[in-house]
Amino acid sequence: MLTAGDPIALAREISDGVLFPGALEADASEVVPIDRLDRLADAGFYGLAGPRDAGGMGLSDFGTALEIIEIIASGCLTTAFVWVQHHGAVRALVEAPEPLRDAWLPHLCRGEVRAGVAFSGLRRPGPPILTAQADGDGWRFNGFAPWVTGWGRIDVVRAAARRKDGDIVWALVDAKPGPTLRVEPLRLAAVNASATVTLRFEDQMVPSDRVISIQPFDDWQAADRASLRLNGSLALGVARRCASLLDSERLTAEVDECRRALDETAPDMMPEQRARASELALRAATTLVVSGGGRSITMDEHAQRLAREALFLLVFGQTPAIKAAQLHRLYDGSHG
Ligand SMILES: Cc1cc2nc3c(=O)[nH]c(=O)nc-3n(C[C@H](O)[C@H](O)[C@H](O)COP(=O)(O)OP(=O)(O)OC[C@H]3O[C@@H](n4cnc5c(N)ncnc54)[C@H](O)[C@@H]3O)c2cc1C
Repeated sequence: MLTAGDPIALAREISDGVLFPGALEADASEVVPIDRLDRLADAGFYGLAGPRDAGGMGLSDFGTALEIIEIIASGCLTTAFVWVQHHGAVRALVEAPEPLRDAWLPHLCRGEVRAGVAFSGLRRPGPPILTAQADGDGWRFNGFAPWVTGWGRIDVVRAAARRKDGDIVWALVDAKPGPTLRVEPLRLAAVNASATVTLRFEDQMVPSDRVISIQPFDDWQAADRASLRLNGSLALGVARRCASLLDSERLTAEVDECRRALDETAPDMMPEQRARASELALRAATTLVVSGGGRSITMDEHAQRLAREALFLLVFGQTPAIKAAQLHRLYDGSHG
């Protein structure tokens, strides 16, 4: 477990020494090999968002966390993608009622318990697709979560279901299939080994001692708008790896400039900067494919993997505002 030293240097060591050399193997696997995730846990990176007193890294600045995410993503996006889903649970548990926090947070920070998340339905307009109805000393969840990443590599899912009044019940649900929790695997053109599934909740009982919080929907929307920076680090990671494989100083400078813009932009301009980062990853990966010639398209080349991953990053974590910004850049021809 990491307690001291330079976390950036350690992230680089794992990314370049373990994750990147194994990225094609991970990409071709059914489920991301567990030893990669164990390596991140052993290094303390499952506690990236946790306080020191609970066994977390206790990072004082968000910038360091973002850099670590980018470095890990530059090694193996599939591994990074499964791992990155965990941090929201850690952050949420820090603020949770004490018994829940004490029971789960240290285990989450050490990566002994690993979490996924099921919240993307909140972004869909129209009636909620996952609902919570009070029932005795708990809640009954019904509906579905279209995307839950890491199945088989996670122990719990931080799930968001809407109450009748629209408020969100956030709860830790065991990642165990059963008659009330059905799992539908998805086949993906990139990061397939992220083992992403659709989860169907059919009268799934959630005891009240698993409820992390109940949040007004408007509060969540504001927080969601303010939290868009993080996933930009996945695109930067892909672009950075392409720049390194191309040995391109110019592309590296572009990645640096894109990161600076993401870091400095105000929340209302973040969708535009996220669109820019995704487009940069796509262009960098395309350049790598072109520069490698025909062999780029063989399955043992990183170029085709990175190109598929860049394509995936166009839609992962896409909000309506990011989608509009991307379409504007790609289709309207404006690169302002
Ligand atoms: C491979 C993969 C893995 C993911 N893993 C996770 C995960 O582990 N956890 C998680 O919470 N999220 C996950 N996501 C979801 C992600 O965070 C985004 O929320 C999601 O990509 C949003 O885009 P979407 O295209 O899926 O949206 P969708 O909800 O499918 O909507 C598609 C488009 O249609 C519009 N739309 C949808 N419904 C309506 C409607 N009723 N009326 C009008 N317009 C509508 C939306 O605004 C959007 O523009 C994952 C996504 C992908 C692609």
